[in-house]
Amino acid sequence: MSTALPPGLPAPAQEPVAKPYWEGTRASKLVIQRCNGCGAHQWGPEWVCHRCHSFDLGWEEVAPRGRIWSWQRPHHPVHPALNGFGPYTIVLVELPEAGNVRMVGNLLCEPTAPVEIGAEVEAVFEPHDEADPPYTLVQWRLKG
Ligand SMILES: [Zn+2]
Repeated sequence: MSTALPPGLPAPAQEPVAKPYWEGTRASKLVIQRCNGCGAHQWGPEWVCHRCHSFDLGWEEVAPRGRIWSWQRPHHPVHPALNGFGPYTIVLVELPEAGNVRMVGNLLCEPTAPVEIGAEVEAVFEPHDEADPPYTLVQWRLKG
C-alpha cells in the first residue's frame, strides 16, 4: 500500500473522544459528531457542543466529499521522516453536506499542481494495517 507521505511519521493520537471517528475510517466511512440537542455538526471531536454547550453529542456518517476552503504547501521538512520529501499539499476541506465543518488533510496531487479554492474533493481512506493499533487516515483527492 502506498501512502501519501513517507513512512516513519508518528501515528495519530487516537483520543477516546474521537473513537467513533477512527472506527469509521477503518470501515472507509467519514463519521463526525452531531449534537443531539441542536443538530449541529462539529469537527474535531469534543465533549461539548460548540453551538449550544450540550454534552449530548452523537455521531453521524456524512458524505465523504467536500470542497477546498484553504490550502498550503510545505516545502521544508517538519519531521525528520520528511527529509528530502515534498513539497506536499495540505488542504482545509469544507463539508457542505455536514454543516460546513472543516477538516484538515493532505491533497493527493503532484507536488506543484495548481490548487483551486472551492474545488470539489472526495475522501480517500488510507489504511495503515501494520501499525499497532492499526488506523486509517483520511486523505483527499480532486473529484472526477
Ligand atoms: Zn448543540
